[in-house]
Amino acid sequence: MKKCTRCGKEYPATSEFFTKNKNTKDKLSGWCKNCFRETYRTRYKNNKEELLTVYALYKGEQLIADGTIKEIAKKLGNSEKTIRFFATPSYKKRVSENGRRLVRLGKGV
Ligand SMILES: [Zn+2]
Repeated sequence: MKKCTRCGKEYPATSEFFTKNKNTKDKLSGWCKNCFRETYRTRYKNNKEELLTVYALYKGEQLIADGTIKEIAKKLGNSEKTIRFFATPSYKKRVSENGRRLVRLGKGV
């Protein structure tokens, strides 16, 4: 039997219950398949939520664009990655008062 390091449940140490992992001693990952499935689902859900979240992009006090990250990126001709970067603390620290600010408005429809 092998204990899952995430949920603590014990399962037979086979690839039927644990995903394969070449880097471990028993060639199986520490997490059971259920845990993998669960984190995958949460990640997917978070992505979906981000797609529905509406932001407003300001330059100084002026509103440049609003909408989801995707819509703002399209309006500005930037990549979604760039738009997301405007919301990071490292960007905020770097810019002056006239810099761009991405403000989270909440969930859209
Ligand atoms: Zn588990």
